Amino acid sequence: MDKKQNINKDKKPGVNLTWVYMAVIFILGFLIFNDSFSSSGYNKEVPYTEFQEHIAKHRGTEIKIEKNSSTAYLTINPDQVRTVFKRSVKEVGKNPTVSTRYGSLDKLEGFVESVPGMHITYTEETNYFNYFLSFILPTLLLVGLWFLLFRRMGSGGGSGGIFSVGKSKARLIEKGEGTHVSFKDVAGQEGAKEEVKEIVDFLKNPSKYTELGGKIPKGALLVGPPGTGKTLLAKAVAGEAGVPFFSLSGSDFVEMFVGVGASRVRDLFRQAKEKAPSIVFIDEIDAIGRARSGKSAIGTNDERENTLNQLLTEMDGFGTNSGVIVMAATNRVEILDSALLRPGRFDRQIQLDLPELSERIAIFKVHLAPLKLDESLDVDFLARQTPGFSGADIANVCNEAALIAARRNSPSVNIQHFLDAIDRTIGGLEKKGKVMTAEEKRRIAIHEAGHASVSWLIEYGNPLVKVTIIPRGRALGAAWYLPEERVNSTQEHLLDDICSLVAGRAAEEIVTGQISTGALNDLSRATKEAFSIVAYYGMGKEVHNLCYYNEQDNGFVKPYSEQTAQLIDEEVKRIVNEQYQRAKDIILSHRDQLLQLAEMLVEHEVVFTEDVESIFGKRPWKSRTDELLEEQRKEEEGEDAAKEDKE
Ligand code: ADP
Ligand code: MG
Ligand code: ZN
Repeated sequence: MDKKQNINKDKKPGVNLTWVYMAVIFILGFLIFNDSFSSSGYNKEVPYTEFQEHIAKHRGTEIKIEKNSSTAYLTINPDQVRTVFKRSVKEVGKNPTVSTRYGSLDKLEGFVESVPGMHITYTEETNYFNYFLSFILPTLLLVGLWFLLFRRMGSGGGSGGIFSVGKSKARLIEKGEGTHVSFKDVAGQEGAKEEVKEIVDFLKNPSKYTELGGKIPKGALLVGPPGTGKTLLAKAVAGEAGVPFFSLSGSDFVEMFVGVGASRVRDLFRQAKEKAPSIVFIDEIDAIGRARSGKSAIGTNDERENTLNQLLTEMDGFGTNSGVIVMAATNRVEILDSALLRPGRFDRQIQLDLPELSERIAIFKVHLAPLKLDESLDVDFLARQTPGFSGADIANVCNEAALIAARRNSPSVNIQHFLDAIDRTIGGLEKKGKVMTAEEKRRIAIHEAGHASVSWLIEYGNPLVKVTIIPRGRALGAAWYLPEERVNSTQEHLLDDICSLVAGRAAEEIVTGQISTGALNDLSRATKEAFSIVAYYGMGKEVHNLCYYNEQDNGFVKPYSEQTAQLIDEEVKRIVNEQYQRAKDIILSHRDQLLQLAEMLVEHEVVFTEDVESIFGKRPWKSRTDELLEEQRKEEEGEDAAKEDKE
């Protein structure tokens, strides 16, 4: 199916059902009130002689002769109804008739003329109007309704009506049509871009690769967290590949009818092979590619498994050089069926990671381009404030900043708008309406000051950006850090994380002597982290060097014994308790400074790194980012020095 057709289908005239209802009501009304119709109401066929008798006895005066069917009708006078029909007037209704088939019209006419006061009307033909109303119209209506219903059912699926339910719903982007997305629009992700470009190259110059005996890969899987640009990259391929590009989403295969998914897969590959060389792109492939369960006890997944099996078959089916490359994207590669991942199917995995600092700068540049910016805006600063943000988050921040600027009637988007947009992306909406008593405010301030001071005072605490007690989203307050983009974490890193997580509650307990529900989120994260230290990273005392990480954890079957479960529980408890005690010790020895910070928070609601530094003094440790930057600088200086030596 080609793209233009698709567009036409989208414009399918909307069938307005009200018109149909109105027509039905109108016709029913017509049938009930139309006289000509009720005249063909009650009728009794009688032998010719009886008919003559009724006329002779003046039981009616109106005779209607229908020549086509050689039938004569006599309308019976109301006072004669009982005698003729043995029924009440009410039962037979208005204008009841008796009818007979006559042999010769002349004879009948002769007889009628002999009786005075008779009045004859003739109808040459059968009443086509009545015929139409009573037979053709209802049929037409039924057929029409039926037709409409089918179209509606079909259009629910998207295109083509019910009869094309097994057809693939892929959108075809032909050569030269382009999607207006090019590789330039995908910032960062250089590695992934290279790989994808190579795939396009395979299709364009296959001989270059096959001459040396190599085989062209059949499939490539784009893997990465949500928002890292997988779909965007595929769109860029569609725009720049210069070969037909079939694009669809894994969920397009799923339909309520059995067998549809498999037949759609077949149809898709048939079309793709016809247009080869071509690319098939299946977005969110986990919708069909999830691991097959093996035991289909519940049996509901059979349809999905059929679809997956068909996909596997098709990918095996076409020869190596048939010129169809399948690309797919997922953010949950670990749940995919291993059969999909084996060489010969998706033999290439292209990893897209959350962008690093330099990549974030590039992504910011792409999305800042269409905005009207304040001249002093510093892109590096923005990128530094957004660790852990995906490309989609950054796109969102840029858009949000523009909206905030517009709301404040600002002539351009400035740094404050961006900072507010970032805050909002991280923490949700500011809740200005929430009213707090002075005491509640103080408790939250102490809690947040606890987080901030402990993470300031331990070696691997994340570098602080700011602390606030302005409620946002579901949080009452927050200490915001630049999470360190560590390559891997040591046990000390993880324990320090837990220590600063439980520090909020520790501060509450020490300063106010009361603990509150505000620590729910902290405690849940600390517990999870402690659990992974023991059960996944093998860093426990008793449970040592064992990893119980279960990729397809369904929560029912635990991969360890009951005794081990108990050991893990105890170790988790021990770790969290130890870190809680450690946090309390730190807070006790810095109690005055913490109170100072809390007071500052109550007063200003927001406190920045500089303020914390003015209370606690400079940190003796460098953050990872600082260290990296320093090393980079040294390297550059070294290069310069080497150059000078040569000269
Ligand atoms: P996903 O990986 O979940 O498929 P998308 O490709 O749909 O993510 O990305 C969503 C949006 O985020 C894109 O439309 C784009 O605006 C932005 N985006 C994501 N990654 C990048 C990137 N590397 N460069 C530029 N914009 C990006
Ligand atoms: Mg996507
Ligand atoms: Zn907290």
